[in-house]
Amino acid sequence: MENIDWSNLAFGYMKTDCNIRCTYSDGKWGELEVHESEYLSLHMAATSLHYGQESFEGLKAFRGKDGKVRIFRMKDNALRMQDSSAGTLMARIPVEIFEEAVLKVVKLNERFVPPYESGASLYIRPVLFGSGAQIGVRPSNEYMFIVFVTPVGPYFKGGFQTTPFVIMREYDRSAPLGMGKYKVGGNYAASLVAGERAHQLGYSNIFYLDAKEKKYIDECGAANFFGIKDNTYVTPKSSSILPSITNKSLMVLAKELGMKVEQRAIPVEELATFEEAGACGTAAVISPIQRIDDFDENKSYIFSHDGKPGPICEKLYNKLRAIQYGDEADTHDWVTLVK
Ligand SMILES: *Cc1c(COP(=O)(O)O)cnc(C)c1O
Repeated sequence: MENIDWSNLAFGYMKTDCNIRCTYSDGKWGELEVHESEYLSLHMAATSLHYGQESFEGLKAFRGKDGKVRIFRMKDNALRMQDSSAGTLMARIPVEIFEEAVLKVVKLNERFVPPYESGASLYIRPVLFGSGAQIGVRPSNEYMFIVFVTPVGPYFKGGFQTTPFVIMREYDRSAPLGMGKYKVGGNYAASLVAGERAHQLGYSNIFYLDAKEKKYIDECGAANFFGIKDNTYVTPKSSSILPSITNKSLMVLAKELGMKVEQRAIPVEELATFEEAGACGTAAVISPIQRIDDFDENKSYIFSHDGKPGPICEKLYNKLRAIQYGDEADTHDWVTLVK
């Protein structure tokens, strides 16, 4: 599209040509529908509005040097959305319908997939929510599944960079036996106050510890944490963090680079021993951490003195991006070519 400034896109919403919808009622999913409108007509007593019966996903499509469009780990997102349905008693969207809807929305909006050179991509947002009217606290018997897309700019405008995080023990993101392991909107609403506070103090986000003991590392804002030391990739094992598909991919790549991978409880003091650290997720792939300030204990864990990312973060970042854009062979079957 000639009138989009691809290299200056933000991580924001831009209208595209259409979105795909599918509704669930009478115990079954209907046909995929193509809608041009960005709006929907929803019953005011829908369970999503009152009782938070909602989940979403986030994945991306990339245009390669060869002009082809590739979608990264679509099936994993479909399966994770099924987990979120189990956690909120929503109807499960079958993997085939999820994949068909994602492929369709990308194909129909192909002119919005940014060119290779821009470093931008097409963000894909599937969302599932209770649409049936209910006043008693019960799961809905009607659901709506929508997939829309929007082009997004490269996360790192001025190149790959580190940012600071802050530990503040007065906020929790999710409870050990709670909803943290599901990708649901409620977790995000619950994190807005802490996130705003961190931003006001000049941090990129809050660094959460486990809610029960405040002893172990949970997540960095809405991204998974990993630390690097002694040629080892260490990432938390916790019942209250979201299983990031980016993290899962980085663990595989780290092993291939000859590193050890450990997924285990990480005590907060262990932060002092990491040579590098990063937050990971679809938006940035890796957002390397400059330092983590422990606000309550007046301590700082510093990973980068000059503000530059470490060599292993950089290597992992480049490798994953190369697979996503098709510069490197997809040996793990992570990529779906849009035909
Ligand atoms: C989506 C999300 C992530 C990142 O997951 P990816 O699959 O890598 O995008 C991490 N933490 C939370 C809380 C999330 O919602």
